[in-house]
Amino acid sequence: NNIIEVKNVHKSYGSGSAATHALRGIDLKINSGTFNCIVGPSGHGKSTLLQIIGGLDKPTSGQVNVMGEQINALSDQKLANFRSLKLGFVFQFFNLLKGLTVLENIQIPLMFAKIPAKQQEQRAKELLQLVDLSEKAQAKAFELSGGQKQRVAIARALANNPELLLMDEPTGNLDSESEAEVLKIIHELHRNGKTIVMVTHSKEIADQGERIITIKDGMVCE
Ligand code: ADP
Ligand code: ADP
Repeated sequence: NNIIEVKNVHKSYGSGSAATHALRGIDLKINSGTFNCIVGPSGHGKSTLLQIIGGLDKPTSGQVNVMGEQINALSDQKLANFRSLKLGFVFQFFNLLKGLTVLENIQIPLMFAKIPAKQQEQRAKELLQLVDLSEKAQAKAFELSGGQKQRVAIARALANNPELLLMDEPTGNLDSESEAEVLKIIHELHRNGKTIVMVTHSKEIADQGERIITIKDGMVCE
């Protein structure tokens, strides 16, 4: 039961002699419900692979199937819809809208999904409870600590109840205490059936997952 199937994916940035070949023939299958960590040296293609799996970038060639959808073939509009409704993203630097409140940030994907306003607020409050941050509902995003920001980002990623969560160094910018809190939430999500694909620099974190996928020179070497 593969939730992700990547076939012979290449990705180049630029062209001709100046081109960077970020991915060079990636083949990868990921099982539904598993906790996967992508590791490897800096600059070897980890983020590029995650972005392509998440439809934030397109491969130069090859096929990417996510939840039965051939996403490399989708139009930009359909891809944007697919991303917002079916996937949850968590980034190293949170990507929250700083001037909005915590609740408003979590409601953004729900707005996109055209959920009625009243239900948006209800759902956002439930999600905030899940990440243990109810007391910050009305705080502005910029007022939070790094760990709190990342918990809000996780709540936002969960808004439309995606089966698949894509995380790029989610603890890369956190102190060790916040890192532990965020990892605890990620483990809990996995236990509740989510598929996790997480890029990490840390071997200790990668060892906590079920599968380590090593990327070197734009290729998988497991
Ligand atoms: P990692 O996540 O393993 O550090 P990346 O996937 O970020 O590696 O980068 C892989 C290679 O692709 C690097 O050489 C990087 O400089 C290059 N690269 C990544 N994104 C871009 C981009 N938008 N434009 C040009 N080159 C890029
Ligand atoms: P675009 O502006 O390219 O159409 P989107 O509006 O889909 O992109 O998304 C804008 C940003 O918000 C992207 O960085 C995307 O990863 C992020 N995003 C979209 N949907 C969600 C979601 N459900 N949870 C978390 N982040 C999301």
